[in-house]
Amino acid sequence: MAEKIKMATPLVEMDGDEMTRVIWQMIKDILIKPYIELNTVYFDLGLKKRDETEDQITTDAALATKKYGVAVKCATITPNAQRVEEYNLKQMWKSPNGTIRAILDGTVFRSPIIVKNIKPFVRTWKKPITIARHAYGDIYKDVEFRVPGPGKAELVFTSGEGETHRETIHDFQGKGVILGMHNLDKSIYSFARACFNYALDVKQDLWFATKDTISKKYDHTFKDIFQEVYDNEYKDKFERANLEYFYTLIDDAVARVIRSEGGMIWACKNYDGDVMSDMVATAFGSLAMMTSVLVSPDGNYEYEAAHGTVTRHYYRYLKGESTSTNPMATIFAWTGALKKRGELDNLADLISFAEKLEKAAIQTVEDGVITKDLADLIVPEDIKVVNSEEFLLAINERLQSIL
Ligand code: NAP
Ligand code: MG
Repeated sequence: MAEKIKMATPLVEMDGDEMTRVIWQMIKDILIKPYIELNTVYFDLGLKKRDETEDQITTDAALATKKYGVAVKCATITPNAQRVEEYNLKQMWKSPNGTIRAILDGTVFRSPIIVKNIKPFVRTWKKPITIARHAYGDIYKDVEFRVPGPGKAELVFTSGEGETHRETIHDFQGKGVILGMHNLDKSIYSFARACFNYALDVKQDLWFATKDTISKKYDHTFKDIFQEVYDNEYKDKFERANLEYFYTLIDDAVARVIRSEGGMIWACKNYDGDVMSDMVATAFGSLAMMTSVLVSPDGNYEYEAAHGTVTRHYYRYLKGESTSTNPMATIFAWTGALKKRGELDNLADLISFAEKLEKAAIQTVEDGVITKDLADLIVPEDIKVVNSEEFLLAINERLQSIL
């Protein structure tokens, strides 16, 4: 066998929980370590370790990502009351992704892995559509009030100098509801920059949409900040790369995306991104084929699968049953991270290996060798449903012939 590929800078590796933790190990053993002299700084974000370290390990992993620049993360349990009992936890630790996102201050980009024999539900879609979701504010940090009966609701802002700005929201004659929400220029600027950088990185057009005709200050501020950042910092780079920045109203964007061939980054405000990413993921076929990357404004990258730890499969695995969990999105988290590491360190062989591994994985599915979740989505029906390990071995066969 040829000599193993060497790495210059370590990857930050964040291990996780349940079925994805099992698959994580298999991917490394079967598809990575035989070919690469894998160099990682390892953090065990499995729930047991997070509990032992009072969740310090999650913070350490995020800080290491800031130091080294590229991380790959396995899915992790976000504890709820039932998990506190199941794992006998000291407390209900926060979502690791939330903690990491707060430290890296990033934007999350989600895109589907496209294979020829899974037809998107939308006939015209030929290329992936990436949703870039703003991850701060709006209704996710709102204040709500249930109006009990007649009365006047006002919007009051008191400045640092004590000056007030006051506006009537509504004179209620009976019961109703009110909601107050906010966002920050700083957060919108970094969202905009993350989107423009990512578009340049993957060489795709950037679309952005809000409801600025109705929301003349709130949504209009988003529109204005994106335009200002584009004009001042990205216009030349986009023109040189032959890329387009396109702004339109959210309802127009929805109509155009459905009619399009795909192949763009679609930047969405927080709520729009929440809703649209589930729609796009489902329309492309399966959550198990959706990748996710967190990009921070200062250029750090954290790659992961969009799905969770696949608990139901894990309980079957613990009973000794063979499971057919789809490892595609987790493999692509690894290849995404290896490619980015290769780009940053100028390692052509590392980039080329990651590309070949992606090709082998796609080839396997296109040959009809698939995990159970894809069985109903694949055309034609000439398929072989295998378990996770058999699937990885099938990818490895194809990888070896490509290499
Ligand atoms: P999930 O792990 O994504 O799984 C939900 C269902 O989707 C599975 O039961 C399975 O359906 C199907 N599925 C998802 N990924 C699959 C794959 N790779 N291969 C085959 N089928 C797949 O979501 P969940 O059950 O709601 O959450 C489980 C745990 O994951 C929770 O503790 C949650 O906190 C955590 N979570 C973590 C992340 C993250 O770390 N980024 C994200 C989401 C959830 P069938 O059972 O019908 O086969
Ligand atoms: Mg959602």
